[in-house]
Amino acid sequence: MKIFNTLTRKKETFVPINEGKVGIYVCGPTVYDYIHIGNARPMIVFDTLRRYLEYKGYEVNYVSNFTDVDDKIIKRANEQGVDAKVISEKYIEEVKKDMAAMNVREATTHPKATEEIPDMIEMVKVLIEKGYAYEVSGTVYFRTRKFADYGKLSKKNIDDLRSGNRDLLVSGENEKEDSLDFVLWKPKKEGEPSWPSPWGDGRPGWHLECSVMSKKYIGDIIDIHAGGEDLIFPHHENEIAQSEAANGTEFARYWMHNGFLKINNEKMSKSLGNFFTVREIADKYPLQVIRFFMLSAHYRSPLNFSADLVEASKNGLDRILTAVDKLRGISSSDTTGEDETVAKEIAAYIERFEAAMDDDLNTADAISVIFELIKYTNINITENTPKKSIDLALGTIEKLCGILGIITEKEEELLDSDIEALINERQEARKAKNFARADEIRNKLSDMGIILEDTREGVKWKRA
Ligand code: AMP
Ligand code: ZN
Repeated sequence: MKIFNTLTRKKETFVPINEGKVGIYVCGPTVYDYIHIGNARPMIVFDTLRRYLEYKGYEVNYVSNFTDVDDKIIKRANEQGVDAKVISEKYIEEVKKDMAAMNVREATTHPKATEEIPDMIEMVKVLIEKGYAYEVSGTVYFRTRKFADYGKLSKKNIDDLRSGNRDLLVSGENEKEDSLDFVLWKPKKEGEPSWPSPWGDGRPGWHLECSVMSKKYIGDIIDIHAGGEDLIFPHHENEIAQSEAANGTEFARYWMHNGFLKINNEKMSKSLGNFFTVREIADKYPLQVIRFFMLSAHYRSPLNFSADLVEASKNGLDRILTAVDKLRGISSSDTTGEDETVAKEIAAYIERFEAAMDDDLNTADAISVIFELIKYTNINITENTPKKSIDLALGTIEKLCGILGIITEKEEELLDSDIEALINERQEARKAKNFARADEIRNKLSDMGIILEDTREGVKWKRA
């Protein structure tokens, strides 16, 4: 498999450190609110990478953190007059619900920053001992200039950064030796969670968390480090500096970054009013459609989210599910034998699917191959096809969709006519004074998101 490595800006053949095993670290969300639809992109894309590597026979150790101590969490907690932990625990549970609804599997480990503080303190100690870090009034800084490779991921020149940051030097950051130095440990402020450390009570810097959690759950060297492209600088650049300085070895072999999701061709932002949580989107579309939509573009391309494009994905997915339904319907065929042409054609589709996925996880092309396979089966597989060949076609579509995390069971759709039939039945029940049955129907409809309103003109209904 080839992977585009942000470190070299080239597609490279993927070779794991240990044969047959892959360690992947994906920077996870800061848990102070529901995740937004942009956050869903790395989750879906890298979950698909994991599924594909497993399909290829690798044992995957997939680690993705929750940043559960952060300014935004503390601010939210103070606004609500609760402990920061109340906020972070709540939203970790909510993120997990969204992940499950998008068929994103739980990571092998989901470490939480607040549970790894002793190891973070250890790494800071090592960095100080090695001369890569220093403390000033309870704050520990990383001595960026001492790390000779600084800028190797983002391709930034350290001297350009310095001139760009000159303002910082004169605006109160004067405790630092150098404007480029970044925080590893910050001292406690009133009303903030804190932990004891050799430099006084305080909390870790964000970049440090990932260096420490990836080391603990994967090792000093990780195979693939991933996240959204906004994390390249400074977050990932700083992770490299910390880890390579502390461990004295290379940090991550392959760096993968997903492009950004925009909404109606604009940057998603609360102030522009085009900001959606995954939860809000789930009211409008099954999240299965959202997963399919996310994978319909290459992960490095920018992706535009609009009602039309999501609608197109919904139709595309429906086409697949309809074909699967049809094949299931005829799979009880009692025609014996095997159609060799079908077997050959199917093998060729699988090969093309794998070639697309092997080419830097090109899920867009892989989905095109599935569509071609659907077209082929629609034309060539009928109830007269041998059962073995029908099952091969069906099994292949299910398998390829499964690699993308697309579930091929049709969700039960409640048609308007079904709803109206139930409403009529409820009216009849009321006339017959069978109020128990009438209530039962009302509750059933309500569970399905249908709201009834008794008006003078009769019963009106709407979808919630
Ligand atoms: P955050 O909680 O902001 O650190 O983001 C969690 C993950 O979502 C990171 O990998 C980000 O790069 C990614 N991310 C945030 N916004 C977007 C977006 N609009 N499109 C794609 N990925 C995003
Ligand atoms: Zn990170």
